Amino acid sequence: MTRRFDPISIRSLTDLQRHMRTEEEAQRLFEWLRWPEGRLCPFCGSGEHWALTARRAGLYECRGCGRQFSATAGTPLHGTKLPIATWIQAAFLIVSSSKGMSSPALARHLGITQRSAWKIGHAIRLLMNPAAGDAKLSGIVEADDIADGGKASRRNRAKYGEKTAKFIYNAPGRGSGKTRILVAVERGGRVRTAEMADGSASTVGPLVREMVAPEARLMTDGDRALIAAGKDQAAHASVSHSQKEYVRGDAHVNTAEAFNLFLRRAKMGVWHVWSNEHLRRYLTELQFHWDHRPIPKGSGKRRELVAVPSIVLMRILLSRGHGRELRRTKSGSVTEPSSPPGKPAPKTH
Ligand SMILES: [Zn+2]
Repeated sequence: MTRRFDPISIRSLTDLQRHMRTEEEAQRLFEWLRWPEGRLCPFCGSGEHWALTARRAGLYECRGCGRQFSATAGTPLHGTKLPIATWIQAAFLIVSSSKGMSSPALARHLGITQRSAWKIGHAIRLLMNPAAGDAKLSGIVEADDIADGGKASRRNRAKYGEKTAKFIYNAPGRGSGKTRILVAVERGGRVRTAEMADGSASTVGPLVREMVAPEARLMTDGDRALIAAGKDQAAHASVSHSQKEYVRGDAHVNTAEAFNLFLRRAKMGVWHVWSNEHLRRYLTELQFHWDHRPIPKGSGKRRELVAVPSIVLMRILLSRGHGRELRRTKSGSVTEPSSPPGKPAPKTH
């Protein structure tokens, strides 16, 4: 066992523990994750500071603006009562999972209460929001309008039984109580999602323009609102699923369907239920997992999945930390300061 500070070589929880045997070591690791380019004042951006280590490990005073800061300042971890090592372990477990981790599972792994795990989960989801100034989707982009939650269709209830039917996709018809989600995904690349009040052209159009670069080639199914949105793009092709047409040349929405399946599996296998209040955060987490999923390399028998090391993903996450605070609401839920106060939190997840 080595005590050398070499965090980039961390590949497992054991490696991680080895770098966090004291609170000071955990603090040092956290700083390495938060400030890849070296310590910066979160208030004015200055790199000049004094260490106030006599008062508290990891506390600094900026020489530029005179304010005091630590690595958690301005992040969702600010003011946390949990040890920094617990946060680092939680982030490691979450980014290492392919589809996220529920709060009961996280609580068991870390030996903390489910309530704490639930809050940590949402704080980490907040860090998973794409970085400010993130480029719009480009190249070939597939868009699809999918539905989440609500009642199962009568046909599926009859066919599969009440319990199973909940998890089976069916169309977001009027009054079904489903949430509509717009999915836009680059072929071989990133995905972006948005909750929608309805599937009309006046809702879908602006969302597509917000997520997709105008020069991208848009692929859709026969959905009228999506076809209308496609007219604003440099190029657009659609396949008509109602005509049993799924692929025509390179026109298809198989990647969007794959994300849809990924979302459904995550919901069924990881969270079981999620509240609509926090749907945006679960979608953000799934976007992050999808965007950083292992990429197949090589071909034939040599083909293998190459994953981005978890420690690198954590660095991506925490370097986005600034300006993303999560506050507790009076009812015990969590909210971002700019968003309206949350409703009471669900008892689980
Ligand atoms: Zn400063």
